[in-house]
Amino acid sequence: MAGNKPCVLIGWDGATFNLLEPWVKEGEMPNLAAMLSRGSARKLRSIIPPVTPAAWISILTGMNPGKHGVLDFNEFNASDYLQKEKLINSTHMAGTTILDLLGERGLSVCSLQLPLTYPVWPIKGLMLAGIPNPDDSVSYTFPPDRNFGPLRPAKMRPQMSYPELFENHAFHINKLTDITCEQMQAGYDFLCVYFRESDDFHHLYWRFLDPRSPGYDAKEAAEFGNPIKSIYKALDAALGRILAARPDANYFLISDHGGAAMGMRRLYLNVWLGQHGYLKLKRSFLGTIGQLAYRGLKAIKPWLSWYKMQNVQGKLGLGQVAARMRSNADAFDWTKSRAFAVLPCAPTAGIQVNLRGREAQGIVEPGAEYERLRDELIDKMKALKDPATGRPVVLEVHRREEVFSGPYLARIPDIVMILDQEVMVRTDFGAGVWGNTRVSELHDLSGEHDMDGIFAAAGEDVRGGGFLSPASLLDVAPTLLYALGQPVPMNMDGHVLEDVFRPNFLASHAVSVADAQEVVAREGDDVYSEEEAAAIRSRLQDLGYLEE
Ligand SMILES: [Zn+2]
Repeated sequence: MAGNKPCVLIGWDGATFNLLEPWVKEGEMPNLAAMLSRGSARKLRSIIPPVTPAAWISILTGMNPGKHGVLDFNEFNASDYLQKEKLINSTHMAGTTILDLLGERGLSVCSLQLPLTYPVWPIKGLMLAGIPNPDDSVSYTFPPDRNFGPLRPAKMRPQMSYPELFENHAFHINKLTDITCEQMQAGYDFLCVYFRESDDFHHLYWRFLDPRSPGYDAKEAAEFGNPIKSIYKALDAALGRILAARPDANYFLISDHGGAAMGMRRLYLNVWLGQHGYLKLKRSFLGTIGQLAYRGLKAIKPWLSWYKMQNVQGKLGLGQVAARMRSNADAFDWTKSRAFAVLPCAPTAGIQVNLRGREAQGIVEPGAEYERLRDELIDKMKALKDPATGRPVVLEVHRREEVFSGPYLARIPDIVMILDQEVMVRTDFGAGVWGNTRVSELHDLSGEHDMDGIFAAAGEDVRGGGFLSPASLLDVAPTLLYALGQPVPMNMDGHVLEDVFRPNFLASHAVSVADAQEVVAREGDDVYSEEEAAAIRSRLQDLGYLEE
């Protein structure tokens, strides 16, 4: 586009200034340090739920999940008692991405491995699909005749050893950076590239950041070093190459959410709802529990601990009962239940009302009764304290329509919450309302998401601003459009971050508004074979995104 500099968006999944700031100061990340010293940085507030597909589609569309419909790796509808396991893909997304919008306006775009771009679709330029996809070592491209060769030395497998995993990811970072630098010479108006490695390493290796972490293991630390710092150093080297490839461009480095240590406290929200009379167990189910108790498992009254069940099921031959327990839905008497917990994604969670006419066996009347119940639950959530610490549990609680809007609003839980980072909400059974994360569990997963991602900008039109006030990830799309001299559709939920730009750019570029983009809810297609879906699931399970 005449007069506007090319724009480059780099994504580091889950990156957090809590880690990056000290490492920048210590000289561990020289290229990020150089970028920050030239431009500006700020926290980028994620959305509810702060999970990669929902957050990235919000970034790409500038719209909240009520408009684009993506809430999780599985298709999600809060009204389904038994959440069906249907992996989502790019065909599930409503709303128009900036890739499409820029193309419609005549600009050329290049999208390299952004989440939820499989299957690829035609754009005015090049698209290389990102996660989830059937084989993460393969180039799935539009146009289809483009082939970049293997993106990884081998397809990733569950439970890879650390050296193998590091080598695989380091190869991928280099390969993707090679592709990025090469494409940056092709003259695209907008190029975006996504690196997943930061978030993967947070989940797997957070316990190695601090010898005082409960999961820290000195022997393994001697062997592994500090995996998260190692992977960020590889990302920083990649950033240096990308920044050098087009010195005339405007660069934006973002993450979709932050990262933090796994919370050590567990709130079994359905047990809480049960104890407060909102959720009832089936009588037959109580019978099953009673029989187990009779066999000497006293700790399971009145609620059964799933973890204990896992340990005893072999001995008692109760695999079938245990399988039923996994799907809580089967255990509840819906004809007597008024509310249930849904969409736990640390540090957020939801509560759904069992509404007549909406849920299959809803009993709460729409209107005044529904609103009274929501008010009551919101008050109780606000007052909820962790008995171990006395600390409030819920930092924010909202009626869904206060945060979301759009054709998918009905799929979002009636109440959404942001919780204390130390508390992980569970929707399965616990022995009580509260439990603890076991240290042994941290050996598999020790990191989680938090609400604050990163935003950094540097380039020809970007002013040196130091650390600025926090923004929302919904502001990314409008800001990119503005940087490219484009008007912002009226129904994008974010705003242009004008404080990023130099005064002369602001003076010559008025923020302008375009007509609303049409948003139509749509059914997604099934694109994965059973084997492909199983492979994707097992990788997501490895990172704690899906239950095993
Ligand atoms: Zn993410």
